[in-house]
Amino acid sequence: MTPPNSVESQEVRKKTPLDFIFGKVIGEGSFSTVYLAKDIQTNKEFAIKVLEKIHVIREKKTEYVMREKEVLRILGNSSQYFVHLYSTFQDIERLYFVLTYAKNGELLKYINLHSKFNLECTGYYTAELVLALEYLHSKKIVHRDLKPENILFDHNFHILITDFGSAKIENNETNQTVTNGDSSSSSGELRRRRHSFVGTAQFVSPEMLQESKSSYSSDLWALGCIVYQMASGQMPFVGGSEYLIFQKILALEYNFPTCFDSKLKDFIEKLLVLDPEMRLGATDEIRYTSIRGHDFFVGTNWDDLGPPPKLSDTELILERTASFGGSLENKEPGLDKKKASQLAIDNMLLISNSLPQVTRKKSDTGRKISDIPPEEIEKRLKSQESNPYNVFVEGNLILKQGLIDKKKGLIPRRRMFMLTLGPHLYYVDPATMTFKGEIPWSPHLRAEAKNFKTFFVHTPNRKYYLEDPFGYALEWVKAIDQVKEHYYPDSNTGND
Ligand code: ATP
Repeated sequence: MTPPNSVESQEVRKKTPLDFIFGKVIGEGSFSTVYLAKDIQTNKEFAIKVLEKIHVIREKKTEYVMREKEVLRILGNSSQYFVHLYSTFQDIERLYFVLTYAKNGELLKYINLHSKFNLECTGYYTAELVLALEYLHSKKIVHRDLKPENILFDHNFHILITDFGSAKIENNETNQTVTNGDSSSSSGELRRRRHSFVGTAQFVSPEMLQESKSSYSSDLWALGCIVYQMASGQMPFVGGSEYLIFQKILALEYNFPTCFDSKLKDFIEKLLVLDPEMRLGATDEIRYTSIRGHDFFVGTNWDDLGPPPKLSDTELILERTASFGGSLENKEPGLDKKKASQLAIDNMLLISNSLPQVTRKKSDTGRKISDIPPEEIEKRLKSQESNPYNVFVEGNLILKQGLIDKKKGLIPRRRMFMLTLGPHLYYVDPATMTFKGEIPWSPHLRAEAKNFKTFFVHTPNRKYYLEDPFGYALEWVKAIDQVKEHYYPDSNTGND
């Protein structure tokens, strides 16, 4: 069945923002905002990814955006396991990608909710991923950034793989690699790559780390990591920093929890193999017969996986996945600046109302870091394990945590900030529980309060505009100053 308004058919008349009513914000990327939108003609729901051209250019992401569009075009709509691109259009300020709406959000959210998946769910979603990879690789595309955040669920809880900005199209002379390109390696490569990653590095394959070389088999490595995470709730390679994680990956240093299913363990062990040629499936003449034939999949009907097993308790976290709501009457089509800001504010209010008040908690601002005894650090790290944001801080002690509106252009984005030992200043999207980045520390980092709500963090390359909605800007500045004093006692606080 051909979906309405597919890339091919919509060429007849290019859609415009005025063909859609824009609803709530359903996600934010580093240089994009994703809206739930309704086509006013068909009443169908879509996810529209909106990219501000100025940000794309400033962040040097033009190639990334073009690559995503090209890959989505190649994938078309023949596989149910991928987000489909229905149309693209632009206005003076923005680019628009009209995508399948993945109503049930990210796989990661469900792994976190359930702590881990049972064997039935793990097996089912692993099989869907295998079918998806068979299709992707048959189209000569390597995803290169497969991870639970990039695997979304449709309305029936089938997977929809997304985020092709880092993908590589094999055997395509005009398309060279994009991020983390396949350049030759050097001795400082590991450290360099540490800086070339945004977000989690836990899924990167050893060959991508060592030689910056990727192939279909790199996605099989990521598959091994994802299956491990579904079954155990943890990522296989963890460490206090990306550099340490990379070292563990290269040393294949990971363990299975006790009582791990033996067939699944064997399956993962055959994927997490350092030599990409030796991974299960890597040399299959017909992809991926050896994976399908592994003992773990005995009884799997590859021609029809059937409906997904029920993920219990999912209702608890579905409050943000409700449909558009209401009729289209009295709603104006299109997306101008005012509408975009209003939707961003609605989104922030929604998040604030649904968050526990951990954000107002006072922290260590009255105390020197060197005064915290090691036993206390140990104890606090232990109790930090129940903090849902602990997974993002790489094992570092959180000194201060709170919601901050991080302004980028005109639109503020609400983030959970964590100031930690290390030092680090991480931020996470609390709506999707995805890691968004960290403000890079150096002796030149400097915090400056403007008033009770607004403060700036100056770094050599950027000035961050931050607003504490609860009015604790001065506390943040004080905490950042103390961390700086502890780690960089000789730096001059007055300068960038
Ligand atoms: P970055 O650009 O920083 O790598 P990203 O790739 O996650 O981030 P987007 O592709 O813009 O950025 O997606 C932002 C968020 O929007 C995602 O985390 C996801 O939760 C949500 N999202 C993206 N596409 C869809 C979709 N088709 N349906 C539902 N939600 C989506």
